[in-house]
Amino acid sequence: MSPEVLRPDAVARAAAVLTAGGLVAFPTETVYGLGADAFRDGSVRRIFRTKGRPADNPLIVHLADADDLPRVAATVPALARELVDAYWPGPLTLVLDARDDVPSATTGGLRTVAVRVPDHPLAQALLAAADVPVAAPSANRSGRPSPTTAQHVLADLGDAVDVVLDGGPCRVGVESTVVDVRGPSPVVLREGSVTREQLGVALDGTGGDPAASPGTRYRHYAPTCRVLPSPPGELPDTVARLLAAGGAVGTVTSTVTAPSGAVVVARFDDAAGLAAVLYRALRDAEDAGVDVLVVEEVAGTGVGRAVMDRLRRAATP
Ligand code: AMP
Ligand code: MG
Repeated sequence: MSPEVLRPDAVARAAAVLTAGGLVAFPTETVYGLGADAFRDGSVRRIFRTKGRPADNPLIVHLADADDLPRVAATVPALARELVDAYWPGPLTLVLDARDDVPSATTGGLRTVAVRVPDHPLAQALLAAADVPVAAPSANRSGRPSPTTAQHVLADLGDAVDVVLDGGPCRVGVESTVVDVRGPSPVVLREGSVTREQLGVALDGTGGDPAASPGTRYRHYAPTCRVLPSPPGELPDTVARLLAAGGAVGTVTSTVTAPSGAVVVARFDDAAGLAAVLYRALRDAEDAGVDVLVVEEVAGTGVGRAVMDRLRRAATP
């Protein structure tokens, strides 16, 4: 059966599907999520099957409001409170000790749970209407670029989801920052648009211990074409060389003008702009039949750190 593609006014219907155990894809400010009631073991397992996601890669639980934290978290330490006050609703996910009744499917078998309150009117309306904590990873097939439009969700998951709530393109474009807040200071497990600078976390960190953040172990964000990050100064020569060798070359650039013959897949103004278009560009490059997509690098500071992390992963063969 094909999924229902619903307009924003159909939030109540989408919420009913969620509470009845169905799978609902919905927009957040970061990327589209594939949601299920976090307390329905069978529904959560269906998320893993639908995505082809390894069972040990836990899901982020989405709440309508910070007041709902006690529904999934055993304790909320002072550091978590501080970050909640500063960044929620927003693209910051907190790892906390889980309540014993959170299904192990949701937590990937860990004793902790990752939680956030998204800052998107449709996501908020859906979560408020459903009134259940919603486990939702990105709504892509595992390994593919995360979806930033409803069309991306349909392209990857099609009939396997019950409802797709279409809220247009996502504003941020890269996933939330994941931070373990159980210790004295925040530990960044995954880079995102809430930056290390904002969190006051050391800039020389590696992006977290892969054992602590299971998702960072896996290959991610990979389109079928080759992805080649390039410093701005080298980009014109790189593109010219690839064009001379034959094959279709695509570009994603800001300041640089690529040699004619290259397909301009996307343009951006700054690191936040690249974050907003990167995943769409990876999919558009595939659709345009590009063999190699050359992407202009940005400085690895602020949100640029998360963008460069995703770009490097997309480029890993
Ligand atoms: P996704 O929803 O696809 O963006 O992936 C969620 C990310 O959050 C993955 O990298 C997970 O490994 C990470 N995550 C979710 N729950 C936990 C947890 N309890 N502890 C550490 N990392 C987590
Ligand atoms: Mg994902």
